[in-house]
Amino acid sequence: MRHTADIVIVGGGCMGCSLAWHLAQRGVTNVVLVEREAQLATGSTGKNAGGVRHQFSHPANIRLSIESIAMMADFEARVGTPIDFHRDGYLFLVSKTANVATFLRNIALQQEMGVGVQWLSPREAAAIAPGIDLEGVRGAAWCAADGVADPNGVTMGFAKGAQARGVEIVRETEVTGIRLDHHRIAEVQTSRGNISTPVVVNAAGPWAKAIGRYCGVDVPVEPERRHIFIATPERGGSWDAPEWEGRMPRSKVLVIDFESTFYFHREGPGLLFGMGDPDETPGFDITVRWDFLPKVTEVAVRRLPAMAEAAVSHAWAGLYEMTPDHNPIIGPSSDVQGFYTIAGFSGHGFQHAPAAGRILADVMTGRDPKFDLSPFAHDRFTAAARSGELNVV
Ligand SMILES: Cc1cc2nc3c(=O)[nH]c(=O)nc-3n(C[C@H](O)[C@H](O)[C@H](O)COP(=O)(O)OP(=O)(O)OC[C@H]3O[C@@H](n4cnc5c(N)ncnc54)[C@H](O)[C@@H]3O)c2cc1C
Repeated sequence: MRHTADIVIVGGGCMGCSLAWHLAQRGVTNVVLVEREAQLATGSTGKNAGGVRHQFSHPANIRLSIESIAMMADFEARVGTPIDFHRDGYLFLVSKTANVATFLRNIALQQEMGVGVQWLSPREAAAIAPGIDLEGVRGAAWCAADGVADPNGVTMGFAKGAQARGVEIVRETEVTGIRLDHHRIAEVQTSRGNISTPVVVNAAGPWAKAIGRYCGVDVPVEPERRHIFIATPERGGSWDAPEWEGRMPRSKVLVIDFESTFYFHREGPGLLFGMGDPDETPGFDITVRWDFLPKVTEVAVRRLPAMAEAAVSHAWAGLYEMTPDHNPIIGPSSDVQGFYTIAGFSGHGFQHAPAAGRILADVMTGRDPKFDLSPFAHDRFTAAARSGELNVV
């Protein structure tokens, strides 16, 4: 491991690796990325559902999506790794009148920004996702340009590309402290020795608060457990078998029942699904709570009746990395010179990693990022006015 570097990145998830790749593209390669686990992408990045969508309520998030999804569509050519990108769309089912009004406003904003989103009747929604039950649904927001991709492929593509240009990636190495010299970054302490550096980037996802604490910077990111379950037909085989025709989508369309937050998409022969638990409290525990499954299946069977004949083959839990306004922190801290954060994406970070890494790399290399970062500024939490992201699922 190098013991001096121009930049140390803490965290080898999609954010840290995207930033490393974009820095390397700009010729900044005296960089060490430090990851505590034996493998990259085993934090939130390795636990996520792979969804990528333009359908956000905040213009800054829509901008991140437009840029990131364009890069994902071209990822193999630009970065050199396949990412299994399927553009089968996102369908938000909306039942409450008040939410319909909000969605229509958001659709107008998304359309104004050039995104092809439409409001569909329940009958039109059913044609896109065969097998869904639309009882109580008033309509659906549909964007055919949304989709799903492989989070591991994206992260490994960025990591390998950065390494090829000279960035050092060290695994099984934990950052244990940061030494300051007169409010400036001076050194990063790790379980394998110290690295003298003027710049640290906090890309530690749900653990970002702890990294901030090492240098006295408040990073308001809280971990929140979220489950994912995989189900196949109870009597075996795949949902692609002829008997499920019309009862289960064949495409990888991602369907979200907005009010319950139940969502699903096809994953190989099975179905991946999940739902937020309003009773979940912040914490790092990622044990699967099997007692939560009945709550999810109750909604699942209502919205996708074929689920009454499903068996859950496996499940896992990971951590959302929540900020108070559900928007990320991207940029420098005003308290400590040389301390940057790219974290707190609040459960929608995978899809924003390509653009977020590009923007921060521009900021750190003195280029104009051509992006108004004020909604994501570190010090916004001390300001009185907040206007965050509403479409958190
Ligand atoms: C169940 C679930 C479903 C999701 N679905 C989606 C989705 O469909 N679409 C989407 O866009 N997003 C989704 N997300 C959110 C997405 O996964 C995250 O926003 C994103 O992965 C955050 O990436 P990251 O690099 O910031 O964090 P992480 O991937 O957690 O990376 C942080 C890394 O920092 C390392 N680290 C922490 N502390 C230290 C230390 N002291 N020293 C060294 N290393 C350290 C960790 O080991 C970890 O590898 C989902 C998340 C979950 C949990």
